[in-house]
Amino acid sequence: MSTLDLIDIQKSYGIVTAIEPLSLSVANGELVCLLGPSGSGKSTLLRMIGGFETPTAGKVLIDGVDVAFDPPEKRPTAMVFQSHALWQHMTVFENIAFGLKLRGFGKAEIKRKVEAGLSLVGLQDYGQRRPSQLSGGQRQRVAIARCIVLEPKILLMDEPFASLDQHLRDRLREEVRQIQKTLGITTIFVTHGQDEALSVADRIVVMSMGRIEQVGTPGDIYASP
Ligand code: ADP
Ligand code: ADP
Repeated sequence: MSTLDLIDIQKSYGIVTAIEPLSLSVANGELVCLLGPSGSGKSTLLRMIGGFETPTAGKVLIDGVDVAFDPPEKRPTAMVFQSHALWQHMTVFENIAFGLKLRGFGKAEIKRKVEAGLSLVGLQDYGQRRPSQLSGGQRQRVAIARCIVLEPKILLMDEPFASLDQHLRDRLREEVRQIQKTLGITTIFVTHGQDEALSVADRIVVMSMGRIEQVGTPGDIYASP
């Protein structure tokens, strides 16, 4: 069984069809990029996988279970947004701890998990800072740590580094790749950058106008005309 199965999912907003019926399976531990121009349906697809949107038709199965009926705190996914969306009034530690508290973990375990998360993204000394005291790259690292401590089955990333400069983007992409491989966490990564997709993905799903145009490894995609 695959970790993720999209089965004939389709999404319309009134008369606008954002996603034509499509199916896709993702294996455990894979990093799949959704690549396509603005408006091709990448975010809509990601939000359906995350349970933020309900498909107009079809199903999203994670480990064989339909996500449509999961309450937010039970969702087996965690999403890193383009704008990091950290709570400004909380410290870095509190930001990362928040989701763990909601899930009922005890104090000691939260501390252990948050510290492990911080060290995974190289921010072990930054727990007591506020988001406003961090650089853009550091904020995105906190956003990643906040997701990873929840041990989701699938990590969702929606153009996570789009607001960063090229150099930082390259570095963070490498870091994500490392973390992703170390933890073996299944990841869906949305980007409109072909170079980004080619350098980070195990498999690339090329989207256009709500459809899957092509699916293949970076080698397949790069070689195709
Ligand atoms: P991408 O992420 O590739 O830029 P989106 O998934 O955001 O594409 O959008 C796909 C299509 O669906 C676009 O035509 C967009 O305008 C439309 N769309 C997305 N979200 C909504 C919404 N909430 N209401 C209406 N149309 C939407
Ligand atoms: P991004 O470039 O980050 O995908 P968008 O401008 O495409 O940002 O979309 C931002 C938000 O607006 C999304 O939540 C999306 O659902 C919504 N949205 C996108 N297109 C439309 C639309 N045509 N009508 C209503 N909401 C939309």
